[in-house]
Amino acid sequence: MRKPFLAANWKMNKTVAETRAFIDEFIPLVKAANDADIVLAPPFISLHTASGMLKGTNIKLAAQNAFYEDKGAYTGETAPGMITDAGCEYVILGHSERRQYFGETDEILNKKVHAALRHNLKVIFCIGESLEERESGKTFEVLKRELDNGLKDIPCDKLVVAYEPIWAIGTGKTATPEQAQETHKYIREQLASLYSEKAQEIRILYGGSVTPENIDALMACPDVDGGLVGGASMKADSFSKIVNFKRV
Ligand code: PEP
Repeated sequence: MRKPFLAANWKMNKTVAETRAFIDEFIPLVKAANDADIVLAPPFISLHTASGMLKGTNIKLAAQNAFYEDKGAYTGETAPGMITDAGCEYVILGHSERRQYFGETDEILNKKVHAALRHNLKVIFCIGESLEERESGKTFEVLKRELDNGLKDIPCDKLVVAYEPIWAIGTGKTATPEQAQETHKYIREQLASLYSEKAQEIRILYGGSVTPENIDALMACPDVDGGLVGGASMKADSFSKIVNFKRV
């Protein structure tokens, strides 16, 4: 039985003060939540504050990115060891915005995943196809390539996979539960080819315009184990409704 996993990706939003206000409001709203992993990924600048506030709660912390080197002359980058030290249990790697705007290739991401694991971080590894790729029937091919290359020689015990179709991110267009299930099932088959029976234990999250209104139907899909949520995670009320989804 896979434990549900609900993660908030705030991207480049919220100051430290706004992070503090969100967490103050959010903690009581999810105190009696489903037995789930609840994760917040604020910008780097807020990690320290968030870590202090989340101690002793049922909410965990993630960074939105990490570099693959441990230290050195890499101006502007953040080492995975620094992220562990800041109180994070997780790091998001391979988000389509990192791939698209910052040129992160499968090979770079594979180095990042290795480095994150060396520093004891659990990895939320994102994959997903563009609209053009979906419409030209290349979805499975793209997902297979991203999994095979990004997870090369990576063990799966600290791995969470997030399927985020690029056409659904921030667009208000969610994959239907049927589309999500079909794709998650394919991803689990690919994970089984990499990790054999251990693939049954890997959480696969759906991301792309998840809201309080569509989470119940998505979570009812047998291979959807949680959500990676952008826009609807920005307000404590809205993200708490997602965390408190109803099992149907
Ligand atoms: C995301 O950025 O990971 C995401 C899924 O965003 P949104 O929920 O806004 O589509």
